[in-house]
Amino acid sequence: KSRATPLREVRRFDNESDERSWKRIRLANELQLAVSNGDFAFDYQPKVELATGNLVVAEALLRWKHPLFGLQMPDRFIELAENTGLIVDIGTSGVRAAAAFAARLERDGAPSPRISVNVSATEFVHRDMISFITAILEETGANPRSLTLELTESLMAEPTVRMQQRLRALRDLGVGLSIDDFGTGYSSLRYLETLPVTEIKIDRGFVQSMAESATKRIIVEAVVRLGQQLGAEVVAEGIETEAERAMLCDIGCPYGQGYLFSPPLPPQAFLDLVGSGRPLGTVR
Ligand code: C2E
Ligand code: MG
Ligand code: MG
Ligand code: MG
Repeated sequence: KSRATPLREVRRFDNESDERSWKRIRLANELQLAVSNGDFAFDYQPKVELATGNLVVAEALLRWKHPLFGLQMPDRFIELAENTGLIVDIGTSGVRAAAAFAARLERDGAPSPRISVNVSATEFVHRDMISFITAILEETGANPRSLTLELTESLMAEPTVRMQQRLRALRDLGVGLSIDDFGTGYSSLRYLETLPVTEIKIDRGFVQSMAESATKRIIVEAVVRLGQQLGAEVVAEGIETEAERAMLCDIGCPYGQGYLFSPPLPPQAFLDLVGSGRPLGTVR
């Protein structure tokens, strides 16, 4: 091989991409091991009524308890889990844990024992979601009305007729269906047109730039109206400041989630919060 500069650059690039694939393979192996060992947990983030700060639901957010590197956030591993198919196994234990947690809240007599859980589009392709969810509800004893599935819009292609039928069957079970990160995909409005959606979650990108952008504010306002007219609950994601909360309240957005109210919490901390019954957010 020649040692001329251009070739060396090519080789250097190869080394880098080798290193990247090596890291990915290692990570995939570790993820596989984590599935066998059940090294996952959920944190729960409250969703609140914006006007009162009252907690109405919690979203279950997946964490990987890596034996060496500690708690890993989904952005580090969800994509890999989807590409390797491991998401199906991870999702199985995830939905089970979320439903079990909802059942526990019901038993504890929590005022609104509802739990949302994120589900990847891949999971719909690789399993029969209807019998899966039916089995999970039976197994955990959770009320279907206590469980909502969040589907990230940007991960779904145009909803096929088959997908529409499946989602309708899930709705018939009584399970809620939420469109996550609304506004980030290609076909936001097509989803509302074709899917039996119970909830719309406005992506935090819109929420956090509302103050500087009149256009963003107009879009958020329109989505709020749209939700009202379609009978879907509208939730603003990623609310970090009182100014954002106030603006959303003015617009008439009923629900929100974000660090202003609470970060995602480990189960016991979340249960303590529910037990305290105190409204969340800044003192008003
Ligand atoms: P998502 O469903 O849109 O969840 C909201 C994300 O925003 C969470 O990140 C949450 O911790 C974060 N967040 C909440 N409030 C604020 C805020 O005020 N400011 C900012 N900057 N961020 C906030 P997280 O936990 O890292 O999850 C990231 C994404 O991973 C989720 O986005 C969801 O798409 C996916 N995910 C999480 N758990 C699961 C799961 O069990 N299964 C699947 N398939 N995907 C999951
Ligand atoms: Mg979500
Ligand atoms: Mg979201
Ligand atoms: Mg998301």
